[in-house]
Amino acid sequence: MHLARFPRLRLAHLPTPLEPLPRLSEALGIDLWIKRDDCTGLAGGGNKTRKLEFLLGDAFEQDADTLVTQGAVQSNHVRQTAAAAAATGLKCQVILEERTGSKATDYVHNGNVLMDRLFGATIRSVPGGSDMPAELEKTADEVRARGGRPYVIPGGGSNAIGALGYVDCAREIVVQADELDLAIDRIVTATGSAGTHAGLVAGLAVLGADIPVLGIGVRAPKEKQEANVLKLARETAMLLGHADRVKDAMVVADCDYVGAGYGLIDQAVVDALVLAARTDGIVLDPVYTGKAMKGLIALAKAGRFEGERVVFLHTGGAQGLFGYQGELDAMFG
Ligand SMILES: *Cc1c(COP(=O)(O)O)cnc(C)c1O
Repeated sequence: MHLARFPRLRLAHLPTPLEPLPRLSEALGIDLWIKRDDCTGLAGGGNKTRKLEFLLGDAFEQDADTLVTQGAVQSNHVRQTAAAAAATGLKCQVILEERTGSKATDYVHNGNVLMDRLFGATIRSVPGGSDMPAELEKTADEVRARGGRPYVIPGGGSNAIGALGYVDCAREIVVQADELDLAIDRIVTATGSAGTHAGLVAGLAVLGADIPVLGIGVRAPKEKQEANVLKLARETAMLLGHADRVKDAMVVADCDYVGAGYGLIDQAVVDALVLAARTDGIVLDPVYTGKAMKGLIALAKAGRFEGERVVFLHTGGAQGLFGYQGELDAMFG
């Protein structure tokens, strides 16, 4: 696939470990492993770091001096982008969408937001439902008007360049599975802005590795999510010169576990956080990995992973827990 042809800045601790989850496997009656992308290093880690390696490579090639991006208030992507900017001497302007409507002090000031400010990002907040691509353009125009050189990163870092980070992760998983002599039957990941899911699908397809990926949705309904992922997987494979390798059937999302909406938690999410923490000491997050694990648990109990070895991709996000302290405390039991 020749990833080395794309400009890249090294920001992540790679490869991340691929480890068994013995106690959670026993609790669920399946053979469950975990790919630790919560351990990518930058600002506490998470999946956006892999995307940012390629996005910043491109930003420097274009001689940008300011990163411009957007996300929900407790966006892990914004935190990691702010850190990447700080670590490479770029300025960073972010737009936070009040997507969940929460006005809780923790939600608005703690967790990821505290770290955005620590890394020196300039923050502008907009109401939920705002036209975020338009807001990005507005901020980029302001940067230009001041004589700056903006590099606009879409929400979640999810374009074909960002998704190359998950092409590389797919390659890493295939190499590790080979080294461990481990046959992987399925990869399960949270799927949101689609770059992670699309990059994995494109990477596995281009490598010819026959491992299905199940995305568990955190926001959009199934049809929309699958369409978004498929489009981006094709664009990513095209960047690699193999658009034809991605087939429609390779993109599967299960969006039955979103609950009341993006960033809104329910008891099943909290139960998933508690189970992962108290079996194998794994810290999941309330918005993405907790919801994905809620889905994985339900599907395992329904016998959907019978006889399979499943790898759960831990995409990070634990910093977001501190934005939900008030809600979570009462639900831990
Ligand atoms: C952004 C994010 C995801 C979703 O990844 P996408 O590439 O946006 O689909 C999953 N988990 C965590 C912790 C995230 O921050």
